[in-house]
Amino acid sequence: MSGAPETSPGGALSHLRFRVEQSRGRRRPERRHPYRGPYQRDRDRIIHSRAFRRLERKTQVFTSPHSDHFRNRLTHTIEVTQAARTVAAALGLNEDLVEALALAHDIGHPPFGHCGVEALNKEMRRYGRLFDHNLHALRIVETFENRYAGFPGLNLTFEVREGLVKHSSDYTVEQYPELAEYLLDQLPPLEAQLIDPADEIAYNCADLDDAVEAGLLDIALVRRRIEAFDRAAANAERGYPGEHRLRIFNEALRVLMDGLVSGLIEGTCRAAKGYADVDAVRAAPARLACFDEESATTSRLLKELLAEQVYGSAELERESAHAASKLRELFAFFAEHPEHLPRVYRERAENEPLYRLTCDYVAGMTDNYLMRRHEELIGGAR
Ligand code: MG
Repeated sequence: MSGAPETSPGGALSHLRFRVEQSRGRRRPERRHPYRGPYQRDRDRIIHSRAFRRLERKTQVFTSPHSDHFRNRLTHTIEVTQAARTVAAALGLNEDLVEALALAHDIGHPPFGHCGVEALNKEMRRYGRLFDHNLHALRIVETFENRYAGFPGLNLTFEVREGLVKHSSDYTVEQYPELAEYLLDQLPPLEAQLIDPADEIAYNCADLDDAVEAGLLDIALVRRRIEAFDRAAANAERGYPGEHRLRIFNEALRVLMDGLVSGLIEGTCRAAKGYADVDAVRAAPARLACFDEESATTSRLLKELLAEQVYGSAELERESAHAASKLRELFAFFAEHPEHLPRVYRERAENEPLYRLTCDYVAGMTDNYLMRRHEELIGGAR
């Protein structure tokens, strides 16, 4: 990675910017706000939602409070948002739409990070179903949040809801007829396509940082495995002889992240430049937001290193197994004792199966709340 792109894109994709005037609007029409645009209002609705505040108490990767310096799902969300906004601004895309989408991208995540998803999936498979955090996010903003007199949900614009649905998966109408309104045969605009690679940049760099801090990853090994990181560290050592190793590490990490963001700008610029307008982007054969070749390699190497040394480490596996067993025990408990579900969930029992209500309730919990409920209802939480 060279750091800055070879040529400054300088808003090179501004012709593909999703303009507010193109919006399909909200389910319930609203009067224009005197000084906030529709996507700025969506951003504010997301920030003021309960599901957003809960992100602070949900694990990103490390399931135990080893240190106050580790990312949680809220600080991760902020890191994704700043990276995605930087890319959108450099390419001339709609920053407000990108900001709203990035802030909402993990709002449907259950407690305990990836292992929470796995544990919910194991329980849901017993009923022939799976848990999908993108679709759960849609249910949160459409149904579970209660911020308005007269209707449930946040009444977000079509584009933000579409971006949530198409964050990282491509669904078909045959599989999900209830999602037919979201133009499933089309790709989302570039603003929505950017969130997934921005997420990848944020979690790769953050997990590298947190894993070194946690003592799970040796800096020398990172230098052997990640060429772009080694180059940045060697430059820092040359520029600052005798500097403390932690500062060299942080300097290299900073340059690594900058290079990945630049690679995403450059790759997306090259892939999308020839497209005439948003409709052409929607009809493209594949997503156009992508890394350039060098940053794609770096990103892949980072993922491999983290999977092998961190996510699969004995320490994290132990934490994950403990959290997963608590989650699954609590899920099974509610399936047998629905009378312990909160009233709002019990009221939905006439129209929806019990496993769905249980899944919604457990998925919405923070890490600590899940442990507390487990202790109250089952006991034995540590
Ligand atoms: Mg994320």
